[in-house]
Amino acid sequence: MYTIHDHRIIMMLFGPPGAGKGTHGPKVVDKLGTPQLSTGDMLRDAVAKDTEVGKAAKKIMNEGGLVSDDIVMGIIKDRIAEPDCNKGFILDGFPRTVKQAEMLDALLAETDEKVNLVIELQVPDSILEERICGRWIHKASGRSYHVKFNPPKSLAGRTPAAKTMKDDETGEILMQRPDDTAEALVKRLQAYHNETEPILARYKKCAYKVNANQSMDKVSVDLDNILYGLTICVMEKVSLDLDNIFVRKDLNQNVQGPLSSAFMECLGDVASKFCKGIQAIPMLFQKPKSNRQKIDEYRNTMLDKVRKQEEQPEKLVGA
Ligand code: AMP
Repeated sequence: MYTIHDHRIIMMLFGPPGAGKGTHGPKVVDKLGTPQLSTGDMLRDAVAKDTEVGKAAKKIMNEGGLVSDDIVMGIIKDRIAEPDCNKGFILDGFPRTVKQAEMLDALLAETDEKVNLVIELQVPDSILEERICGRWIHKASGRSYHVKFNPPKSLAGRTPAAKTMKDDETGEILMQRPDDTAEALVKRLQAYHNETEPILARYKKCAYKVNANQSMDKVSVDLDNILYGLTICVMEKVSLDLDNIFVRKDLNQNVQGPLSSAFMECLGDVASKFCKGIQAIPMLFQKPKSNRQKIDEYRNTMLDKVRKQEEQPEKLVGA
């Protein structure tokens, strides 16, 4: 039975510690409707719960080293099989080594999938220390603050401390990560340049750079533009699948009625994926009119194709 590829959007947020993956990631989540999977968060959770993985990772993490490839791969493998990843997922902090990238690609190949988009947030090393050492986090939500660049309301010009650093939304106390120190940052940056950056060569066909050393609004606009391009590519891919179905002869063998059931099944599959694609990308509907028009045109072309085939079923037989 012919099946079309699943159109999971598999995206990687790439960048050194402090580049803004945690800050901008949630906005991408809102736009794509797919979860952000941070291996750092998962490992911190394991450390807090004192699991076997947590015990193995704690010291390495605090010193700014890398946890073993097998451990992180095991965590990610289970996580991307969860139902909330059905439409896709955003990888944050994974892969961190070429070995992890190879393992990830091999795993995705099993389901005929691959990474669709890599966004590299670029920031010079020289400004990362101030970003990292001033960072405070709301543990439950992952919201990130900075004593200078993004202070919580509670700070109100006072000295940063547990008493003065509280989450804007819940009022809960913020925390500093044990590895957000100048000493650990040296090791984390070394690991990033030596082990992580070489991964980019592998994904250069779908990698985009964003200057993350500019205002948050400007970074958001640059990210939006890239995501918008991605949505068009996904639509094109679905359209191609539809074309392929219409020209495939083997689907039309042993036709009992005007439309073979295999054909109908595939058509339904594509239509539902197309609709899911639209639902998965709410940003399409928030774009200015010109962008909406483009998508509407796309959708109308697709619907036209389906309508034409329904009106002329005899063309399918022995096509
Ligand atoms: P992050 O929150 O992404 O900065 O990660 C915090 C720490 O968790 C890193 O410094 C590593 O010690 C560990 N870690 C997170 N993701 C990975 C990974 N993919 N491979 C190895 N270690 C990781």
